[in-house]
Amino acid sequence: MARDNPVVNNQNQTPIFQNYSLSNFHKIKQLQKFDKDFLFEIEVVGNVLPFKINNYVLDNLIDWDKAPEDPIFALTFPQKGMLEKEDFDTIANALKGKKSKKEINLLANQIRARLNPQPAGQIELNSPTFQGTKLLGLQRKYRETALFFPRQGQTCHAYCTFCFRWPQFAGLDELKFASKKFDDEIRFIEQNKNLTDILITGGDPMTMNYKVFSSYIEKLLKADIRHIDIIRIGSKSLAYWPYKFTEKKESGKFLKLFEKIVNSGRQLAFMAHFSHYRELQTEVVKNAISRIRSTGAIIRTQSPVIKRINDDPKIWIKMLKEQARLGCIPYYMFIARNTGAYNYFNVPLVRAWEIFRDTYKSVSGTARTMRGPVMSCLYGKIQMLGVAETEKNNVLALRFLQAREPDWVQQPFFAEYKPDAMWFTELKPAFGKEKFFFQ
Ligand SMILES: *Cc1c(COP(=O)(O)O)cnc(C)c1O
Ligand code: SF4
Repeated sequence: MARDNPVVNNQNQTPIFQNYSLSNFHKIKQLQKFDKDFLFEIEVVGNVLPFKINNYVLDNLIDWDKAPEDPIFALTFPQKGMLEKEDFDTIANALKGKKSKKEINLLANQIRARLNPQPAGQIELNSPTFQGTKLLGLQRKYRETALFFPRQGQTCHAYCTFCFRWPQFAGLDELKFASKKFDDEIRFIEQNKNLTDILITGGDPMTMNYKVFSSYIEKLLKADIRHIDIIRIGSKSLAYWPYKFTEKKESGKFLKLFEKIVNSGRQLAFMAHFSHYRELQTEVVKNAISRIRSTGAIIRTQSPVIKRINDDPKIWIKMLKEQARLGCIPYYMFIARNTGAYNYFNVPLVRAWEIFRDTYKSVSGTARTMRGPVMSCLYGKIQMLGVAETEKNNVLALRFLQAREPDWVQQPFFAEYKPDAMWFTELKPAFGKEKFFFQ
């Protein structure tokens, strides 16, 4: 693997975050081995779906000898197949015809609108109302857990090609659901005593600098809401910019703040998004994991199962073993949501279940804490339990791990066998029933 690395690994120095987006992607030196046509494909797709990468991912994670088939390349670089051929040609012709930025963006917006930019009714259904106004920075779908979206955390260190938050990165909904203040949200949390968990999410909240990040945490700690037992931080930073927890400038302050959360008598759960074992293999990520754990925080891991990136149990087995060894707790295997370049990346539910099963049976109990494969859909988190045989035919067995109605949880239900279905909406109730029990 090319390890021509300009970034300083020593934790006593501050590595420089070099950011590449579509506007300067030609400057990425590793791309110089590809021909013009290939670079043009990246540019075409990058005009519709968001692209962002940094020097750590370029220099340490992607195996350039294997690109474009390399999984981390597929995780981060736009690829031709992500758009339907017609849509690809529309943008390609517009670029070749030297159309203006504005015209190209109009065409891109038409394509984006067809890629299901708001799956599972996130804003309409999940934002609570407090004293007559919608709290756009908060989402509460499940009784115990509220999601908080700090305004300055609505970006990531690099973008995943399959990301379900792509519309926000593409500027489609202008951070509609993000908050700057966190005062009304805190009062809402205070009054809702069923809430035990606050999940700070984004984007990636760990893109915030210390001053901004700590202002939110300090507000929450100061409110000292006794029924909040667990503060979770959802982040891909361990995979995309682990220097956040090792570099000299601010990492010590972040870790102190983590300790402060733990010392408030609460659990700090760092919900880390890892998609491939390679993200766990650099010295700096191992160091970062160890430093986070030394604060008393626990690290739970999750990822969707994605074609071209990790749709092979061997990858998951290796990833889970590595996570368990490093003291991380596997949490969820997701099915990627039905949005964006979903047709290009998603695996059928039955295939996802096979990957889950082959993984689960090959690791020790300490890694069998992972649950899945799970679809986060309108009704809740539905787990694909497997293919079950009946006297007549096969059916799909499912259950809720989380639901809008807490009582739906853990009741097995059945759908007709459909080997190519990729999302819940493609399923029909089994045994000739008209509806699923929760509809
Ligand atoms: C996944 C999710 C949660 C967290 O669910 P847990 O099972 O507690 O991890 C909370 N809110 C929403 C909207 C979610 O999608
Ligand atoms: S880290 Fe999460 S929010 Fe950020 S680009 Fe990847 S999938 Fe999207």
